[in-house]
Amino acid sequence: MSLSVVYTRANQGVDAPLVTVETHLSNGLPSLSMVGLPETAVKESRERVRSAILNAGLEFPAMRITINLAPADVPKAGGRYDLAIALSILAASGQICQKRLPFTEILGELALSGQVRGIQGVVPAVIAARNQLRSALIPQINAGEAAVVRDAQCHVVADLRSACQHFVKGQPGLPVLPMAELDAALEQHSPDPLASIRGQQHAKRALTIAAAGGHNMLMVGPPGTGKTLLANALPGLLPRLAENQSLQVAAIRSVAGTPVDSSQWGIPPFRAPHHGASSVAIVGGGRSLQPGEVTLAHSGVLFLDELTEFKRHVLESLREPLEAGQVTISRADYRVTFPSAFQLVCAMNPCPCGYFGDSQRQCTCTPERIARYLEKISGPLLDRIDLQVEVARLDYQQLMHEPSGTADEPVWSPHRIERCRARQLQRSDCLNARLTARMLHDVCPLSTECDALLKSVVESMKLSARACHRVIKLARTIADMEEAADIAAEHLAEAASYRGLSLPGGSPAL
Ligand SMILES: [Zn+2]
Repeated sequence: MSLSVVYTRANQGVDAPLVTVETHLSNGLPSLSMVGLPETAVKESRERVRSAILNAGLEFPAMRITINLAPADVPKAGGRYDLAIALSILAASGQICQKRLPFTEILGELALSGQVRGIQGVVPAVIAARNQLRSALIPQINAGEAAVVRDAQCHVVADLRSACQHFVKGQPGLPVLPMAELDAALEQHSPDPLASIRGQQHAKRALTIAAAGGHNMLMVGPPGTGKTLLANALPGLLPRLAENQSLQVAAIRSVAGTPVDSSQWGIPPFRAPHHGASSVAIVGGGRSLQPGEVTLAHSGVLFLDELTEFKRHVLESLREPLEAGQVTISRADYRVTFPSAFQLVCAMNPCPCGYFGDSQRQCTCTPERIARYLEKISGPLLDRIDLQVEVARLDYQQLMHEPSGTADEPVWSPHRIERCRARQLQRSDCLNARLTARMLHDVCPLSTECDALLKSVVESMKLSARACHRVIKLARTIADMEEAADIAAEHLAEAASYRGLSLPGGSPAL
C-alpha cells in the first residue's frame, strides 16, 4: 500500500489535540513535501526523519513522498511529530505492518542516529489517547510521567528500530508500561503541621482559615520571625488532591517540562518563585507558550516571599489569574488558556530595613524610602488578599516557654480542614474564596446585626466593593470552621480584623 495514516498529538495549553499524519507515495522524481507544518519545522523534521530511517538500517523510499499533518490550524512546533512521520513513511512503503496503526498514537522526536528523544507534554497526550481507547507509543525517557495515567496503555521505545518491532506482522508488540505506584503521602502528612512552630497564634489561626476556605494571605513582619516557616506549613494543612486534580497537576508539569514525580501524587503543589522572576516566568508565555508559576501552582499554593522585591508589573499581572482562576495568553494567530486556581501566600518586611515597629531594633528608613517601598503593592492587589496578618518577633518568654502547636485552640488537622472544605463544596460547588458576587447573596445571607456591622467596617476602613465581598466570604469560612449555619457578628468581626494592617504610613489599600 502506498498510503498510510498515523495518529499523534499536538500540544495546546494543557490539552493535546489529535493530529493525523497522512503519507502518500507515488512514482516520480524522489522528493519529500510536507504540508500542515510551519516551514522551518518541516525543513528540520525532514532531515531528522531521513537520517533516522537510514541510520536505523531501514530504507528511505526513493519516491515522491507527500505528507499532510491535519488539521492545519493546530499550532505545531518542535520535533514531537518526527517518530509519527517516520513510521508513517515506513508504513506507506510497506516496511511495517499497518494493522496496529489505527489503535495507536505515536509521540517522539528523532535524533539523526534513530534514537527517540523525549518530548514535553506527554501526560495530556497519553490521557487523550486513553480517552479514545487507543494505546500510546512514547519515548522511553518519558515513561515515568506517563505511568501516572491510570488505565492508559503505553508502550515505550528508545529508538526507531524498536518502534518498528511494535508493528511487525504476527508479533505481540511491545510490552505495556507498568503503572506507577500512586499511594502518595497521606501518612507522611503530620497530624498537626503547625506543631513545630512556636508562638505566633494569630498567624497560625489565619493560616488555618486560609487553608479551610482557600483564601489568599499576606504576612508582614521583621526578618526571622518565621513567615517562611508558616507559609511552608500551609500545604501540610491542605487535604490531598482528588484523582482528577492530581492528573491535571501532572499534565501541567509535563507540559512545562518539570519532572512528574509519582511520589508527589496527591500532594498540592507549592511554588515559591524568586523575586527576580519575569512576568513570563510567573504568568506564562514565551516563544513556545509555556505555563508559568501561577499554573504550576494550580490546585496548590503560590508563595511570594519578599513581595515588595518583585517587579511591580509582575505583581499586577497576577490580578487576572487571581480573579479568574485561569490565564489566557494570546499570540497573533492563536491563544491558549492555562488553569491557575492557586492560593496566594505572600510575605514581606514592613519597611526596607525590616525593623519598622520591631520591639528590639530601631528602623532606619526615611519616610520617603518606606513610601517608595510600599508603592509596589497596589490597592487592587491587596484587595484580593483576604488575610493580612502581622507576624511580630517573639520575646524571650514566648520563645522559650510558650508551647508550640496551636495552644488552647483545637488542633486543625488536614482531616478537619477537609471536612470544612467538603461542607463548602457541597453547598456551592466551590471553596468560599471562589464564591462569585452573585452567589454571595444566596450563600452568605447577613442578619440585620451583621449588615450594620459590615456597613460600619466598610465605612471606617473605606473598603472597596471587592474587599467588602471578600470580608463576607472570609466570615463564611470562619463560620464553616465552627459548623455554624449562619454568619454571626463575631465571625464578621474576626474576618474584618484581617484587613487592618498597620503599615508605616497606613496601608496602601486605604
Ligand atoms: Zn525600616
